[in-house]
Amino acid sequence: MKSWYRNLLVLMSGVLLALAAGVSFAQPSGKIEILWLGQAAMRITTAAGKVIMVDPWVTKNPKAPEPYKSNLDALGKIDLILVTHAHGDHLGDAPDLAKKHKVPMWGPAGMNQSLLTLGVMPAELVPRMNKSGTINPFPGVKITQTHAEHSSELLWPNAQGKPETLVGGEPVGFIIELENGFKIYHMGDTGLFSDMKLIADYYKPDLVMIPIGGHFVLSPRDAAYATKEWLKPKHAIPMHYGTNPFLRGTPKEYIEALGSTSTKVHAINPGDKLEF
Ligand SMILES: [Zn+2]
Repeated sequence: MKSWYRNLLVLMSGVLLALAAGVSFAQPSGKIEILWLGQAAMRITTAAGKVIMVDPWVTKNPKAPEPYKSNLDALGKIDLILVTHAHGDHLGDAPDLAKKHKVPMWGPAGMNQSLLTLGVMPAELVPRMNKSGTINPFPGVKITQTHAEHSSELLWPNAQGKPETLVGGEPVGFIIELENGFKIYHMGDTGLFSDMKLIADYYKPDLVMIPIGGHFVLSPRDAAYATKEWLKPKHAIPMHYGTNPFLRGTPKEYIEALGSTSTKVHAINPGDKLEF
C-alpha cells in the first residue's frame, strides 16, 4: 500500500471514530461564561479558563454591582484587558487592573500611545495595534479590532491635577474568537455604520454585545435595525444604557423594535452571568 493512501485511510478512520464518539467539529467543546458589570464592562471566561476583561469601568460605574464595585479583586484573575476607546466609562479601571495583574491592555493605538507618553503605563502593558489587526494572546484565541463610529478623547489630569483633553486614538470594536470557535463581537460605543454588515459577513459573530442607550451610541431602534438587517447573530446582549440621563434606551424598546427575529436577546442585569 502506498504510504499516502495508508495515511488517508488512517485519517478517515480517525474522523469516523470521532464522529462515532459524538465529537462534532463545529460545536463548542466547553462553556464560555459572560459576566456583565453594567455599561460596556464584560468579563469573558473562555472554555479553557482564560479571563478577558473588556471596558472594565467598575469602581465609578453606578450600575456595577457589589462585590466588584468596591473590590476589584472580586473579579478574580485576569489574563487580558481590552479597551474599546479612551472615554472614562470604558477605560475606567483598566490601567489599574493591567498594572495589578501585569497583563497587557489592548486598545486603540493612539490611546495606548498617550498613556505611554504620559508615563501612566509601562510600554509592555500598552502594546499597539490598529483596526483589522489581529492578536493571538492564547492558543486558539484570536482578537481583531474593528471600526466603531464614535470618538475617543482621553481626559487625564496634568501635573497640577487639572484634566486635559488628549489624543485617544480612534474608537474600536473587537471580534473575539475563542478556543471552541465561538465568536463575540463587542461593538464598543458606536453609532450606525453600514460596514457593520461587512463585519458580520466577514467574521460571522455568534454573539453581539450591542449598545442601545442612544444619544452617544445606537438607540434601541438603531440597534434593532443593525441586529436584524446586518448582524443577524444567534445571541445579543444589550448594553450601554441606564448609567446616565442621556442613555435612555431600554432592552424592552430594543426587543419591541426587533419584532420577530431569530436573534435571542439576553436582557440581563449587571452582575448576571450567562453561559454559552
Ligand atoms: Zn464613548
